[in-house]
This record gives sequence, structure tokens and C-alpha cells, in this order.
Amino acid sequence: MKNYFQRIYAIISTFNLIVNSIIPDSFLHKQPGMNDIPVWADMSALLQNKSKLVFSKIEENIPLAEYTTFGVGGNADYFCLVRAKEDLSILINWCKDNNFPFLTIGNGSNLLINDKGFGGLVIKLGNCFKRISCSDETIIAGAGVSLPVLLKEAANHSLGGLEPLAGIPGTVGGAVITNAGTHLGKMGDVVSKLTVMDFRGERKISKRQVGFSYRESNINPREEIVLEVEFSVFKKDKSKIKEEMKNHLEKRKRCQPWNLKSAGCVFKNPPQGPAAKFIEEAGLKGLSRGGAEVSRLHANFIINTGAATSGDISELIRIIQDKVQKKFGIFLETEIRIV
Ligand SMILES: Cc1cc2nc3c(=O)[nH]c(=O)nc-3n(C[C@H](O)[C@H](O)[C@H](O)COP(=O)(O)OP(=O)(O)OC[C@H]3O[C@@H](n4cnc5c(N)ncnc54)[C@H](O)[C@@H]3O)c2cc1C
Repeated sequence: MKNYFQRIYAIISTFNLIVNSIIPDSFLHKQPGMNDIPVWADMSALLQNKSKLVFSKIEENIPLAEYTTFGVGGNADYFCLVRAKEDLSILINWCKDNNFPFLTIGNGSNLLINDKGFGGLVIKLGNCFKRISCSDETIIAGAGVSLPVLLKEAANHSLGGLEPLAGIPGTVGGAVITNAGTHLGKMGDVVSKLTVMDFRGERKISKRQVGFSYRESNINPREEIVLEVEFSVFKKDKSKIKEEMKNHLEKRKRCQPWNLKSAGCVFKNPPQGPAAKFIEEAGLKGLSRGGAEVSRLHANFIINTGAATSGDISELIRIIQDKVQKKFGIFLETEIRIV
């Protein structure tokens, strides 16, 4: 019996090594300089031989700055580009059993990661979470699909409804968690249901259960992982869809520092008006700390001019909150997620 299991183990190991060696790293969004840990050695150390990943590998000390649009932040103790649902399940169960923190990231376009990094496992969804299927009234997309890819696919199938999301540089999963959108429309308007996974397994949840609110949802990304999202769409003239998306993109390019390192709007708009207006009227445009600067184009953006640290950005955030509070009596709550 022991021999039998050893043989199965050897076959799976060999298969895993073959798969890992034939698929190029660039295909897996692997960053240069990553610290490769042999999958079995690492997994046996990390998972204490209790569970084994089949298709994914865990790496150690991975710089998270490379995985965020701010381009700042320290290392993740452990990082896994997950390439199979089975592996995801093993990982989150292991984390649960060992009281080990995990964090799922999408495109890192709404994240400010601490300079000390993340003392746990960072999970990024790989290619098997990037499928899209379209029918006349529905699009089903994996959580790892990037919004620009999704919007292009919708337009090519003459499916309307997603146009207000044009130019948001996130993934489907991240956009659900943050209920991403603009004044023209948000994820909560177009999502009909989701599939999520936690340590108990997979489950479908309705839009109502997601509890979308202003840049928030009820899903706790430290416990649940969005796997797949269903969108309600409708037939619309392809050229009209493309025209609308193009207009939204052009407007963004005029009003936002879209080509610089940032995480979009730093603060939520308070009920009294746009956060950018209060920041600008407090005279804070162009204010800098270290390599971080309040954008001169859009005051609700903080940009990394090249060598910013997470600490520089956090300091600017505190100064802005303090000055706006003193001048207008308004507390600006952060929209970006601070880890
Ligand atoms: C130039 C620029 C413009 C932007 N414009 C807008 C805008 O107009 N409107 C807007 O709303 N936002 C905007 N953003 C912010 C950002 O793009 C959105 O919030 C986006 O939806 C975040 O998606 P992401 O994949 O990058 O998520 P991340 O930043 O990686 O993560 C965001 C949150 O989601 C969680 N998460 C990610 N994936 C999963 C998953 N599969 N399962 C569970 N949890 C997950 C993370 O843990 C984190 O808590 C902008 C950002 C930039 C840089």
C-alpha cells in the first residue's frame, strides 16, 4: 500500500515538473529575479507534508511592488500564482487549519502595500481563472480576467452594459470586491451572481448577497476568493459600444495621470462633494513627500514619481486627511486598500 502511494506521488511530481517546465514563465506573468523554490521541497516545508499542490508552486520573499500599480511595498513571505482550482482549495484550507493569513490580489491597482510587506501567503489567480464565455444576455468571466480584456470581448460580441467600466485597470475579482465604477455606472449594476471559494468549498452567491455599496462589497478578501462572475448584458450596436468606450478612455486621459504609477482615486468622495475638489481647495496639489506627489492633474490621485515608498504615500494621505479636516471639517476616507 505504501509503495502504491509512493508511485502515485512520483507520477504526480513528474507531471507537475513537466507542466512547470514547458509553460514559459512570461506566460505566467512571472517577474524576473523571482526566487524559485522547488515546488515539492517548499510545499513539504510549508504544508508540513499534509497537502500537496499539483499545478502551482509557492515562492518565497516576492517583491509585491512588482504586482501593484503604485509600484511600492515590501515582500510577500509566500506567493503563489494559482494554476488550478484544486490547488486554491488546498491552499486556503491549509491557511485556515494553520491560522495563516492569506491575501488574494488582482492587478494590484487599488492596493497600497506596506513597506514591510505581507507576512502570509499572497495568492494571484493564474490562467485557468481567465476564461470568458458570452451569450446574448450574459457574460461569464473568471475572476482573473482583466477588465480591459472583458470590455473588448463584450464589444466584439455586441454586448452592452459594461461601457462605464472602460479604463479601470483592474481584474474582474478585484473590481467586484471594490465595486469599481464611475459616476456613470459600477460593477454592482451589471453583476448578477458570483462563484466564490472559501475553506468550506465553492458556492454561488446572488447580487443581493454580495451587498454592493459605494466602492465596497460584503465579501471579505481575507476569507473568500472570487472565482467567477456572471454579468447581465444586452444586445447593442457594436460601433456604439466602441464609440462610448473610446470617449470614456479619452476623458480619462485628459483628466487623470493614467500613465503614471498610482492606484486611482485615493479617497472616497464624501457626501459634501468630490474629494479632489477639497484637496485642491486646501492647496495640496503638487505636495510631495519623498517620491510621492499629489497629482497636479487630478488632486485625488497620489503618484509615485519614481522612488516613492509606501511610507511616503501613507504620510501624504495623513497630511491630506489632516488639512482637509481642519479646513472643511470633512474626514476623507481612503478608497484604496491599505495592506
Ligand atoms: C489609473 C487608475 C484608474 C482607476 N480608475 C478607477 C475608477 O474609475 N473606478 C474605480 O472604482 N477604481 C479605479 N481604479 C482602482 C482600481 O483599478 C479598481 O478598484 C479595480 O477594480 C481593482 O481591481 P484589481 O484587480 O487591481 O484589485 P486589487 O487592487 O488587486 O485588489 C483590490 C481588493 O480586491 C481583493 N481581491 C482581488 N482579487 C480578488 C479575488 N479574486 N477574490 C477575492 N478578493 C480579491 C484584494 O484582496 C483587495 O482587497 C483605478 C486605478 C488606477 C491605477
